[in-house]
Parts: sequence; C-alpha cells; structure tokens
Amino acid sequence: MESPKIAVLGAGVVGTTTARLLQNEMRNTEVTIIAESFKEDTTSAVAAGMFRPGTSFRGSTKEITKKWIDNSWEYWQEILKSSEAPQAGLMSFSSYIFSKENYQVTRNHLIEDLVPIYRPADKNELKICGEGWKYGSYFSTLKIGCERYLPWVEKKFTVNGGKIVKGKIDSFTSLPQRFDLVFNCTGLGAKYLCNDFDLVPIRGQVIKARVPWLKTAFYGDYDAYIIPGFDDIATLGGVRQYDSYNMNVCKHDAAAIFERSCELLPALKNVEIIEHKVGLRPHRVPVRVEGELINGLKVVHCYGHGGYGVMCAPGTAMDAVKIGVDLFKSNIRSKV
Ligand SMILES: Cc1cc2nc3c(=O)[nH]c(=O)nc-3n(C[C@H](O)[C@H](O)[C@H](O)COP(=O)(O)OP(=O)(O)OC[C@H]3O[C@@H](n4cnc5c(N)ncnc54)[C@H](O)[C@@H]3O)c2cc1C
Repeated sequence: MESPKIAVLGAGVVGTTTARLLQNEMRNTEVTIIAESFKEDTTSAVAAGMFRPGTSFRGSTKEITKKWIDNSWEYWQEILKSSEAPQAGLMSFSSYIFSKENYQVTRNHLIEDLVPIYRPADKNELKICGEGWKYGSYFSTLKIGCERYLPWVEKKFTVNGGKIVKGKIDSFTSLPQRFDLVFNCTGLGAKYLCNDFDLVPIRGQVIKARVPWLKTAFYGDYDAYIIPGFDDIATLGGVRQYDSYNMNVCKHDAAAIFERSCELLPALKNVEIIEHKVGLRPHRVPVRVEGELINGLKVVHCYGHGGYGVMCAPGTAMDAVKIGVDLFKSNIRSKV
C-alpha cells in the first residue's frame, strides 16, 4: 500500500519543528516541506530567539497558552541537555529586565513558575545599567538561535526521509501533487493563503553586533533589549511597528536602537556592527492552531505566533500534530 502523503507548508521555525514532530508521531508517512524561503531568509532567522513570552502571545484559552509555553520549554530543555545543543542553536543564560516606571513590566506571570530562577533585582543589581532604574527582575532562561536551529532541524528531517520542495503556494487547491494531509505553517504568508484579516505584521528591526564579552541579556523600558548569541554575535533591539510591511532597514530605527542599547550598556558604544535586519512578526490573537476541510483537503493551520514563534513553536506544533492525526484518521475523505 502507498504511504500517506503529508505536506508541511513553510520552513520557518514552526514548519520545520512541525515536520520533525510529525515524523516521530506518524510513522510510515511521506512528509514533504514546501516553502518559498528557507533558513536565513525566513522571519525566524531575524529573531533573537529568547524564551520570554509577552502578554500578546495567546491561545484560545489561558490554559492552552500556558500548555504551549510549558511544552515548548520541555522540548527545548531536551535538546539543551543533549550533546547536540550547540549545533542545534540552544543556549542557556540569565537576563535582567529593568524599568524606570513600573515593577509589573519586569514580572512575567507566564514563566515565573517555569524557569529555574525568577526574582526581583537587588539594590546593587539595579545600578548595573546606570542610574535611574527603579525596578528590576533577574531570571534564567534559554535562547534558540535559528541560524543554527533551522539547518539542524532540516538535516534531521531529511536524514529521516523527509523531502524538501522550494516553491510558492498560491492556494490549497494548487499544490504540486496530491496530499492526504496539509499543515499550514506559513507565518505571515497565511494572511494571503487563508484571506485571514486577523493576521497583522508587527515590524521589527534589530542590529547584529559582535559583543564577545556579553554573557547576560538586558531589557529596559521602551523595548530596548540586548541579547547574547552564538559566535559572539549579540542582537540589539528593537521596534514593534503594528501593521507596517516595510522590509527596508530604517536608518532612524537603527540610530534609535543603538542609542537605547548604549544607554543600557555604555560599553556597547565601540562594538562592531555586523548587520541590520528587518522582519515582520506574524501577529494574531489567538494564534491559529486548528483543523479545517478546504474543498475536501484536510488542513491543519499553525500560524500567527507574533513575537514569540521561536520560543513557542514546539508547543503549538505538538497540538497541530495531534489535530492532524485525528483529522487523518477521521472518515472525512480528502478529494484534492
Ligand atoms: C525583530 C524580531 C525579533 C524577534 N524575537 C523573537 C524572540 O526573541 N523570541 C521568539 O520566540 N520570537 C521572536 N520573534 C518572532 C519570531 O521570529 C516569529 O514568531 C517566528 O519566526 C514565526 O515563525 P514561522 O515559522 O511562523 O514564520 P516564518 O519564519 O516567517 O516562516 C514562514 C515560512 O512559510 C513560507 N511561506 C509563506 N507563505 C508561503 C507560500 N504562499 N508558499 C510557500 N511558502 C510560504 C516562508 O517562505 C517561510 O518558509 C521575533 C521576530 C522579529 C521580527
């Protein structure tokens, strides 16, 4: 009997992670990733990949949101504890978050019970980033460097027999071949593929700079953040521009990001800037993880992760795969 054929549309962190989990969950199937862009050309590769959810990340209920975050943490911990962590782009570190105005912005109810340490910063720590910081928290977390994770997970997928096809999909009815089940992990691309007006870009711009001495992450008011990374490359950010589609580097944003970063850590003034990057966060409330029958084709959507898709890809992908398995076994027949 011919093996069932499954397509995963999208090769960002959500698509590749879904494809990896699918291979473990649905044995004896043929899984193909179809995407227009891969690895460094995806939004996922722009992200610092910090595990720190914001309140705009939401599933359809509080419980689902928390489950996605907790399951994602477990997934990343498993890789982190393995010998493959550096190749897979996993790194654990600590972070300070400071505010001049509000203690609450330094808290994070979504991970305080999850990460090993989450505590208020003491008087001396409040002076690490200069004068004026009234409130602060210190926490331990991890980051996923997609510049390493995407090639690693793609390799795992192909070694396990997965296929990769490059191409743009214009509609679910114009796929290059017949599939029994399709996962839609197209990020912002889903806006057009599904005519989804609830999916909105939040433009981000960051600076990648060589900062070999940076071992801790720092956040300050007004979205200033400095996050260490692999190969001594830190990410300095950022901006959140709602409904902006501008993919060009804005020199004014770049200047503002650099100025705010140097205010947080004056030692950054002389660092070597490697590049400026822009990405459009695929923002949707709630993140869409659900099945749908489109002209008889069984489709599972998994998109709209906003600014938290790197950290939360695994938790959402686990649910998407469960929905896919049920949909696949159901009697509803695929016609396409
Ligand atoms: C500046 C910035 C900083 C960020 N920082 C963090 C962070 O610290 N932590 C965090 O968790 N997240 C962060 N994010 C958010 C994160 O990058 C996104 O949530 C995540 O990348 C979304 O992943 P994705 O796989 O859904 O989308 P993408 O990475 O955009 O992948 C979408 C894939 O679908 C393909 N595709 C789309 N349409 C089609 C089509 N019609 N046909 C074929 N293929 C198609 C694309 O080619 C691509 O392969 C940040 C984002 C930005 C911009």
